[in-house]
Amino acid sequence: MYKVIILGSGCAGSTAAIYAARANLSPLVLEGHEPGGQLSLTTLVENYPGFPDGIDGPELVQRMKEQAQRFGAEYRMETVVEADLNHPFTVRTAAASYRTLSLIIASGASARLLGLESEKRLIGYGVSTCATCDGFFFRGQRVAVIGGGDSAMEESLFLTKFADSVTIIHRRDELRASKIMAARALSHPKINFLWDTVVTDILDPEKKRVESIRVRNLKTGEESQVPMEGVFVAIGHTPNSEAFRDQVKTHGGYISVHGGSRTSVEGVFAAGDIHDHVYRQAVTAAGAGCRAAIDAEKYLENLAHSD
Ligand code: NAP
Repeated sequence: MYKVIILGSGCAGSTAAIYAARANLSPLVLEGHEPGGQLSLTTLVENYPGFPDGIDGPELVQRMKEQAQRFGAEYRMETVVEADLNHPFTVRTAAASYRTLSLIIASGASARLLGLESEKRLIGYGVSTCATCDGFFFRGQRVAVIGGGDSAMEESLFLTKFADSVTIIHRRDELRASKIMAARALSHPKINFLWDTVVTDILDPEKKRVESIRVRNLKTGEESQVPMEGVFVAIGHTPNSEAFRDQVKTHGGYISVHGGSRTSVEGVFAAGDIHDHVYRQAVTAAGAGCRAAIDAEKYLENLAHSD
């Protein structure tokens, strides 16, 4: 029986592990399908406090993991596929079944991708899912933003601060975004639109940089190649909450929290992108992880006193 199990090993999960381990709770971290979380898919992180020269995303999460392990956190490269949130809680992975007195869900959200092989190979090398994180690197360059929702508009408007031109590529001729966000993007002098268009390839994975994209107009079938130095995919995120959705209160798949990190199930806490679809930053996820570990510690204290 564990005192606390943490699901996910991104900024939220590993920060929770550091705090829980230092509180002598000997946490078990089940790393999940993307060890290190979304930061493991980025390159240079320049907005995480304490690193004036920036730090590579994978290195940052690795350091957090080592810090947690130093205080006794145990990491296992397993993903929870099923959970029973009747106390004490049970989580199952493909390898084993674990029981715990408290649970911190920090399983994050995954950015939706187009599914192109070249996109996968160029993530962190010109292809990004986060303008706030990577926009700075595209100063004076041409970037494409894929999607027609609020995220795509927001990312595009943010990117105009750096890029020379921003091309929004949307698969329809009508935006899904809210009127106000759409109007801002439509009237911005640096933003242009490619309507009814999908990206079919990104070049050049061999050179580990983006040089151009291949696009197809869905109405005319016409294909063309457009020079581009950056591609931002903004077609939404999927919270990794499938294993808990019917047992804990969620909104749009994101776990609902109250009073810090508490979920609708006593003893179950949530931290990071699994509950936060607004800020989605490494530093806010780390803060949420800290909060969840402190909340779990208090919960365990009360549980011990009530025995
Ligand atoms: P979204 O509203 O679901 O929009 C996703 C967009 O991506 C849609 O335009 C969709 O096209 C397109 N898309 C989806 N799959 C695609 C694919 N495989 N290939 C090409 N295009 C694809 O997601 P979101 O923009 O991330 O927003 C999520 C929620 O957060 C929304 O409720 C939004 O209002 C909110 N949000 C609000 C703000 C703000 O107010 N500042 C900022 C960001 C997000 P179709 O339109 O054809 O389906």
